[in-house]
Amino acid sequence: MDRSAWMGKDRLEMERISIIVPCYNEQDSLPIFYKEIKKVLKKLTYDHEILFVDDGSKDKTLDIVKGFSVLDPHVVYISLSRNFGKEAAMYAGFCNVRGDYVAIMDADMQDPPILLPQMIEILESGEYDSVATRRIDRKGEPPIRSFFAKRFYRIINQISDADIVDGARDFRLMKKEMVDAVVSMSEYNRFSKGIFGWIGFRTYWVPFENIERVAGETKWNFGKLFKYAVDGIINFSQVPLSIASWFGIMMTFFSFAAMLFVIIRRLVFGDPVAGWASTICIVIFIGGIQLLSLGIMGQYIAKIYMESKHRPHYIVSETNKKYVKKMK
Ligand code: UDP
Ligand code: MG
Repeated sequence: MDRSAWMGKDRLEMERISIIVPCYNEQDSLPIFYKEIKKVLKKLTYDHEILFVDDGSKDKTLDIVKGFSVLDPHVVYISLSRNFGKEAAMYAGFCNVRGDYVAIMDADMQDPPILLPQMIEILESGEYDSVATRRIDRKGEPPIRSFFAKRFYRIINQISDADIVDGARDFRLMKKEMVDAVVSMSEYNRFSKGIFGWIGFRTYWVPFENIERVAGETKWNFGKLFKYAVDGIINFSQVPLSIASWFGIMMTFFSFAAMLFVIIRRLVFGDPVAGWASTICIVIFIGGIQLLSLGIMGQYIAKIYMESKHRPHYIVSETNKKYVKKMK
């Protein structure tokens, strides 16, 4: 790592902390976030960099971040060529940070910067490699969303080895070793909550009460969240695939039983022409199961298709630092 590229040379011995902030249309919350995070960082004995990843924003986000960088040499910005999604923006951040400690946090103040000093202290104790956060309530969230979120965490923990805590946020502080591991997980279909759990390391969980965003709007609607949940399950579990085989096995046994029933009934009672309604029901039922199984397989094939193309996760259109990898 090129240490001389960092701020003052006299600070070479200092530990360094990098803050990654993925931003998509955050013009209203960024000034508030920047002010708050600077307040916290100034009190630390660490050198720091704040890496804003502008995820193809359509508002003044990039101009605002450039404004910060003119006055503050600690600000690094990476502007992506279009909106690649939060997962890609986070990956772009992870690929380009240089701190010994790395934090990832949202721009909307839902990840309170005030928690950082406490999180750093926990890492400094040496007992943990990462400090993650989880919200203990879902205040301000529609009840239907909370209901499905709870089911999602139950299911994914049962059928995968991703080990995801209910209410886990992406906000966490990690040692560089852990960030290197995250970067080495270079899959195209990314589900960071699962990746953090899968790579292991000793993680301390800090609970905090949910905070509503300071400005702007959430980028998630129910449909997007549902897709995110399905993607998470498919990325970290093969159980849905085996559901298709189990259906197959069950249907085969069931059809043997049905055959026996039909044969015995024919021998004992003769064969009156009846039962077309039940026949149609069975045909539709089996057709439904077949389509469902095909659909599950299709989901996995679609993922394999995208992985096999080896497309870059992100493309950089603009940055203020030469070392930034233009795509990866
Ligand atoms: N974000 C992003 N790209 C996107 C969507 C969101 O970089 O396509 C950023 C966004 O600017 C914010 C963070 O991801 O800093 C979390 O987004 P949001 O607050 O909309 O999600 P929520 O907190 O509602 O889950
Ligand atoms: Mg938010």
